[in-house]
Amino acid sequence: MTNNPAPGQKFRILAADKLDEEGLDYIRSQPDAELVNKPGISEDELAAIAGDHDGMIVRSAVQVTAKVLANPGRLKAVARAGVGVDNIDLDAATDKGILVMNSADASTISTAEHAFALLIALARQIGPAYKVMTEGGWDRNKFMGRQLAGKTLGVVGFGRIGRTVAERALAFGMTVVAYDPVFNQPTALEGKVRVFQQFREMLPHAHMLTFHVPLSDQTRGMLGSETFPLCRDGIMVVNASRGGVVDEEALLAALDSGKCAGAALDVFVAEPLAKDSPLRKHPKVLLTPHLGASTKEAQKAVAVAAAEQLMTFLRGQGIVGAVNAGGLRIDLSPVQAAFVDLAQRMTRLLAPMITQGIGSVAIELAGKELASVAGTLERYALVGLLGGSLDIPVNVINVASVARQRGVQLRTILSDDQTDHRSGPQLTIEVNSADGKEERRIIGRVYDDMRPRVIEINGYRMDMIPEGAMILILNEDRPGMIGMVGTEFGQAKVNIADMTISRRQDKALMVLKVDDQPSDAMLNRLQHRPGILKVAVVKLPPEKN
Ligand code: NAD
Repeated sequence: MTNNPAPGQKFRILAADKLDEEGLDYIRSQPDAELVNKPGISEDELAAIAGDHDGMIVRSAVQVTAKVLANPGRLKAVARAGVGVDNIDLDAATDKGILVMNSADASTISTAEHAFALLIALARQIGPAYKVMTEGGWDRNKFMGRQLAGKTLGVVGFGRIGRTVAERALAFGMTVVAYDPVFNQPTALEGKVRVFQQFREMLPHAHMLTFHVPLSDQTRGMLGSETFPLCRDGIMVVNASRGGVVDEEALLAALDSGKCAGAALDVFVAEPLAKDSPLRKHPKVLLTPHLGASTKEAQKAVAVAAAEQLMTFLRGQGIVGAVNAGGLRIDLSPVQAAFVDLAQRMTRLLAPMITQGIGSVAIELAGKELASVAGTLERYALVGLLGGSLDIPVNVINVASVARQRGVQLRTILSDDQTDHRSGPQLTIEVNSADGKEERRIIGRVYDDMRPRVIEINGYRMDMIPEGAMILILNEDRPGMIGMVGTEFGQAKVNIADMTISRRQDKALMVLKVDDQPSDAMLNRLQHRPGILKVAVVKLPPEKN
């Protein structure tokens, strides 16, 4: 997927939020980019101009709503400088084929440091002690703290931030245990962290808990009225991940009962936190207003990362930090790139042979090199299949959701290895019509010359390079058919550049490459000739090499 601007034109990049200068300077310094800086733009203004830009960079203030994306024009991507994409309507972006990226890596250390700051502040009661000092008091007995060294920290979610917090906790002499269902090793960080597969099993070990998970149906309220009882008495809790992971009501109850000795929260179910929220008044609660990534270093890093990611994508050089393009890659090896191109050619050939609506698609990938780009092959194959038949633009970003909305079932089968080692990897695509009556199958390969080949269509063997104007003719296998077809094309003054014929039982499939596309009238005449069963026309792009 390349998005190169027309010769002489530059990629227009809209900064729709206040971005760190270094991020803006990065765009300004790119010879193929033009920066339009409009921080504080309203939703209506943004909706009016978004489509005049190739890419947009946002932070968390501007709202990229369905209205903003309704007429996407030349907009191809939105990059969020930071992590949360709550201000971007992901479904709308995906439906319009717009890639959404975030720059999560860049704020990892700052967020981990903030979580650790909250942990120390909680253990030493820094918040309430400071409050007493500002009110003129001096109470040394009230604020007896806890030492971190020797305590066990339970890290929930062992991703980028969780791991970074764990490293710091180890340096403070803590024992660290972690829970992450995706992590499949019993220990991490060179055996220093015991990793649990069950949250409930980890809980009794921890004196303190820190949360670093995304908010999902699995994580919402994971520390709540059912799981608090499994914790040690006097547990301390830090949440700098997402509001709602720790159930706020259950937390207040645990604080009141003494089960929980203190909680530090940077994130809340509703942000900004309501003025009258009981969390604000609770003496055992320490609060910060979502400050995890709020450091100069993190803001600079996320702005530069978002700008770099956006330019990389627009130039067709790769996809980093994609939020809505599961499985799509553009950093392909030459063989993978050739197969991605072939996949789309193959499905474009099959598409006109399905007349009753597409019900299901099965893609079989043989060869290790193909397995690692399965998601990308799927998307390109679906674009070839659905792209020509729908009234909306279909591209690799929105095709999965377009297919889902239309009830197309997709199945990908990975074969262990090549079926035939001498011939290299192989791609098979089978499409069934919605009524189950039409079943079409096509097999393709890329040989050492890197040229795409179709080697079978619907059981008919061939060796054909799919490119240019092509005509597929299914006919009865009897004498005179080739001559008749040749005469029809000759009379219509359409030159046949190449012809492949394959036979199966009593039928034959002719695949013709022609120099000019024949008229509808001529094709209609051919379709009604005795012995002709079906005629399909496909216009494919010329070969890439
Ligand atoms: P990450 O994707 O690197 O790590 C998240 C981890 O959570 C993954 O290892 C994943 O396997 C794990 N996980 C997923 N579901 C889980 C479950 N049900 N139980 C336990 N673990 C589960 O993400 P990250 O960059 O480390 O960010 C972690 C969280 O911190 C995110 O929610 C992010 O939005 C938040 N965050 C907050 C701030 C802030 O300002 N407070 C800043 C940055 C990130």
